[in-house]
Amino acid sequence: MTKKPLLLGAHCADTGGIPMAAKRAGRGGMQALQIFSAIPKFYNDKVSVKPDRIARFQAALAEAGIDPAHVIVHAGYVLNCATPDEVKWERASVALAKELERSTALGVGGVCFHPGAATDGDRDAAIARVSEAMKRALLAVPDGSTRLLIENTAGAGTTVGRTPEEVGGMLSALPKALRKRAGYGLDTCHLYASGYDLANSRQDVTAVLDAFEAATGESPSFLHLNDSEGALASNKDRHARIGRGEIGEDAFGWLLQDERARGIPCVMETPQENGEPAEDDDTPDRWDVEDLALLRALSER
Ligand SMILES: [Zn+2]
Ligand SMILES: [Zn+2]
Repeated sequence: MTKKPLLLGAHCADTGGIPMAAKRAGRGGMQALQIFSAIPKFYNDKVSVKPDRIARFQAALAEAGIDPAHVIVHAGYVLNCATPDEVKWERASVALAKELERSTALGVGGVCFHPGAATDGDRDAAIARVSEAMKRALLAVPDGSTRLLIENTAGAGTTVGRTPEEVGGMLSALPKALRKRAGYGLDTCHLYASGYDLANSRQDVTAVLDAFEAATGESPSFLHLNDSEGALASNKDRHARIGRGEIGEDAFGWLLQDERARGIPCVMETPQENGEPAEDDDTPDRWDVEDLALLRALSER
């Protein structure tokens, strides 16, 4: 049996438009890419993506040699599909459906989102509300191969989706017919910040993947490869460059050597040297390129 390929990439700057993000990824030798489909600090619950933008993005991906299935769209940060506030929940769930609609139109493999916070402290009810919002989004966008993916959180405040059980709970409450169009991904910084000691040993990394697999019935559909500025269990969501944070580079080697890291987008969301390149500059970020080379080397150790 041949090994699945390792698909490494980054969340690339989209100044000049998302086709420019694809060009930067291609020039950076990436096999995977993450983008926003709209400005992430807004709900964008009425924003659609225009056909010419879709065509230009897909053409840029083709030129970059990146399979659209290996592209992840990151949903807006403001969406809180766990909130007990009915008005906010309604808006967040409409916005989540819009995210899935835009991502499906772009033809990408998945759209990832942060599940949100149980601001009233009732975590079980919050988890049920996340499932309900996911169900609505999947029903609102019945066609297409883009999957709706939960991202594990750093565990700050009352955020839900920190543990395998919470992520598993969100997925298992979905109607069976929709379940295969949903999944989850793991962010290494969030794992570490929420108390999973990836830095300790290969066995610990394997155990985390095993626990999420046992609770959800599947392996992750993407990885966010971020080192952590915050200490273990600090609940701080502060990303650091690979090997320059509290996690350290060994853990990334252990993770990437696991079969479950193969064939899925593995993208960095780490500090960049130049987060805002000129609109017509398709040069990949130098720090991203350096850290991708490091990750590739660690995976082959
Ligand atoms: Zn992330
Ligand atoms: Zn984060």
